[in-house]
Amino acid sequence: MKIADYLKTSFIDYKDHVASVVFTSKCNFSCPFCHNKNILKTDDLISEKTVLKHLEKRRNILDGIVISGGEPTLQVGLTSFLQDVKSLGYDVKLDTNGYRPQVVQRLIQMSLIDYVAMDIKNTSSAYADTIGRDLELSKVYKTMEIIKNTPIEYEFRTTMIKDFHADIESLFEMVSDAKRFVMQQYRYSESQIVDCKYDYFTLEEMYAFKKRYKSVYNIGEVIVKGSY
Ligand code: SF4
Repeated sequence: MKIADYLKTSFIDYKDHVASVVFTSKCNFSCPFCHNKNILKTDDLISEKTVLKHLEKRRNILDGIVISGGEPTLQVGLTSFLQDVKSLGYDVKLDTNGYRPQVVQRLIQMSLIDYVAMDIKNTSSAYADTIGRDLELSKVYKTMEIIKNTPIEYEFRTTMIKDFHADIESLFEMVSDAKRFVMQQYRYSESQIVDCKYDYFTLEEMYAFKKRYKSVYNIGEVIVKGSY
């Protein structure tokens, strides 16, 4: 597996867990606002062995690992890496863009993940522009269905940007009946794929969306994340 970066300890990336975060290289999307330009292209890789050694040593402090990216489901060797992680007793959270439904399904069936966070980039008509490429939207919907019907914990999440998200009601409709929907505030980063300061939604605006649409679209929990 190609690991581009490794955060040894995080208190914020996996709910109720002290976790390490593995950032895999490569992605099949090219979201203009992606913060991970450097991770996606780096040749400076960290070995699986280094990560596993750290996990073994820190079992008394850590209880989870987040597999993020990039897009982890593209990685050859993901299954065997997760088997090794699981054998150490860790809970695993997968961050995914949901474009490889068969991989997500296999990982769930093999009990190799305990939580999935899937990005919902936008409403169907705006999806391609938001990810910077053409796509087969049916793959995104398929992964959503798999996740919604899984017994494991999950969230759908969207990085909210005024320049991309014009139709908020349709976005909520897209995640209707979901257990959990997370609205993340956009924040500019110098390591974005496209160097542009997009316009963000304020916390007040996002809370107003929650109030207006949560019940209408029968969403179990709507979480707003951000700081201004
Ligand atoms: S933000 Fe987009 S381009 Fe960046 S890692 Fe996620 S899916 Fe890939």
